[in-house]
Amino acid sequence: MSDTSITVDLNADYQDIRDAVRKLCEPFDGAYWRKLEKTESYPSDFVQALTESGFLAVLIPEEYGGSGLPLRAASVILEEIHATGCNAGACHAQMYIMGTLLRHGSAQQKSEYLPRIASGELRLQAFGVTEPTSGSDTTKLKTRAVRDGDEYVINGQKVWTSRALFSDLLLLLARTTPVDQVTRKTDGLSVFLVDMQKARGNGLEIRPIDAMVNHNTTELYFDNLRIPASSLIGDEGAGFRYILDGMNAERILVASECLGDARWFTETSSRYANERVVFGKPIGANQGIQFPIARAYAETRAAELVLKEACARFDAGENCGEQANMAKLLLSEASWHAGEACLQTHGGFGFACEYNVERKWRETRLYQIAPISSNLILAYLGQHILGLPRSY
Ligand SMILES: Cc1cc2nc3c(=O)[nH]c(=O)nc-3n(C[C@H](O)[C@H](O)[C@H](O)COP(=O)(O)OP(=O)(O)OC[C@H]3O[C@@H](n4cnc5c(N)ncnc54)[C@H](O)[C@@H]3O)c2cc1C
Repeated sequence: MSDTSITVDLNADYQDIRDAVRKLCEPFDGAYWRKLEKTESYPSDFVQALTESGFLAVLIPEEYGGSGLPLRAASVILEEIHATGCNAGACHAQMYIMGTLLRHGSAQQKSEYLPRIASGELRLQAFGVTEPTSGSDTTKLKTRAVRDGDEYVINGQKVWTSRALFSDLLLLLARTTPVDQVTRKTDGLSVFLVDMQKARGNGLEIRPIDAMVNHNTTELYFDNLRIPASSLIGDEGAGFRYILDGMNAERILVASECLGDARWFTETSSRYANERVVFGKPIGANQGIQFPIARAYAETRAAELVLKEACARFDAGENCGEQANMAKLLLSEASWHAGEACLQTHGGFGFACEYNVERKWRETRLYQIAPISSNLILAYLGQHILGLPRSY
């Protein structure tokens, strides 16, 4: 369980960044997101604006053209994007995928890719882990990468690979040694940085998935795709550990988006509950309307403290697995409860797309399932933090 002797800075708040993000988000209003959804389009203008502002490169060290800020700064950026009613799902992966390249890539890979990612010349937005048959049981994934001279040959299938049609690079997890030839099932998996421009049509097929939210998500089919051996990140067979390394950052950043959603819902509910008059008084005067909003607010504020602790520990280089997982679990639930209260407060108008409530409600539901489901987080807490028997 957590070591309470570690001093963590819970106050890092980056008000200047918050203000700048809110300003940047202003033109990207509800109508913008609704139009994209209707046409299942990618928010290119929004991503471009974020790239130009440098916000997507805050975690890239200065020597590679980023601003080298702590994870807390990235957390604040994503929170604020969501609190304005926007959605960072189109580009958030860049912030945490890049960490694998930064921590485990060779000096040559880093100098080749990071400055171009920081400038926006290259997008690293796609992350291929999940497969249709193995799901959460990642070590059972079946996509194979077989070394053939100076190349690897990839065969297999991924599902829910978001933004693949809008990314130049894909971070791919594939098995390089069959599972029956390794001592531990976590061995024999490797991470590759795949050039999507070269791969498409040459052994990689991308098919969009028609989904509940506009997440530009896809299926990937690999049929003898040949990639240069230099695409391997770090050591062959050590990929699972590299992916695990990046998971705390991913949990923290997704929790930050949930916090932003919860803030948007609570603000929107409170405003409407004050304005909407039925039976001669604002509906917010009724405890049946007021209390669910207040309860979700309290839940959000409590979970926000866990998120801040997770960020502070991460940025201090301390172990933050417990806090990162709890922040993601609690904030995905808090944002959902705030969303439920918001939809109920709006009555029938909650179903009218122009209020944006139903869109945000669908969007925030995702976080109890992806990038990891709540049950798997509970299993982590039970097993690794509480010392309970392994359940899978
Ligand atoms: C919109 C969207 C975008 C996504 N983007 C990406 C992406 O970019 N890249 C990527 O790699 N993946 C992505 N994913 C996949 C996502 O990470 C998975 O959907 C998620 O990890 C759950 O895996 P699964 O869907 O295979 O569910 P399963 O593993 O089949 O699980 C189904 C249910 O069973 C429960 N369950 C399974 N095993 C246990 C257990 N041992 N104990 C208790 N409960 C259990 C789970 O909690 C879950 O509720 C995305 C998914 C969605 C929906």
